[in-house]
Amino acid sequence: MSSDRTKKTKPADHPGTLIAESIKALGSGFATTAKHLLRRPVTEQYPEQKRVLPERSRARIVLTRDPDGRERCVACYLCSAVCPVSCISMQSTGGEGGRRVAAWFRINFSRCIYCGLCEEACPTSAIQLTPDFENCRQDILEMVFEKDDLLVDHGGRDDRYCFYRHAGIATDTAGKGEHVNEQPPVDAKSNLP
Ligand code: SF4
Ligand code: SF4
Repeated sequence: MSSDRTKKTKPADHPGTLIAESIKALGSGFATTAKHLLRRPVTEQYPEQKRVLPERSRARIVLTRDPDGRERCVACYLCSAVCPVSCISMQSTGGEGGRRVAAWFRINFSRCIYCGLCEEACPTSAIQLTPDFENCRQDILEMVFEKDDLLVDHGGRDDRYCFYRHAGIATDTAGKGEHVNEQPPVDAKSNLP
């Protein structure tokens, strides 16, 4: 005698049980439908009525400025390196007062997946994702944003942070040892015997 013949039918596999579960699932589905039939429809009249998204929603990307109104981006390429779809490109150059800036900065939004990794990687809080989701264009070439399109005149979420006040780099903002929580530089020759 094969082992299949001796095997008892489990209660869950019993035809009666399966039929009962199917009827229960059907009833639950119809009950949900009936519940929504009696509700008022919720239709968003977009674009006349625009939903306000949460502050940390990830949509259009901007380049922000520090409290002095100067560009935060130091063209370190970290955002470009971390971007999983390689949609950020730039060229660094020396700016005014010992600062380093991006000569040009470009984001191809037709490739961006709004993952937010560029914002996570940025050491200066320059690049930030905003809740502005109205970023579609009919012409795909218009989805390529240059620095002038990206640069805004505020600090975004963190409007008090200035990288150069913490960086330890002498610029026209502060000299060596003059930054926040920074000790004066040690004269190496003073350690000589
Ligand atoms: S949000 Fe993601 S995909 Fe878009 S630019 Fe930043 S790192 Fe790249
Ligand atoms: S946006 Fe931030 S991470 Fe990207 S190059 Fe500028 S400073 Fe570096």
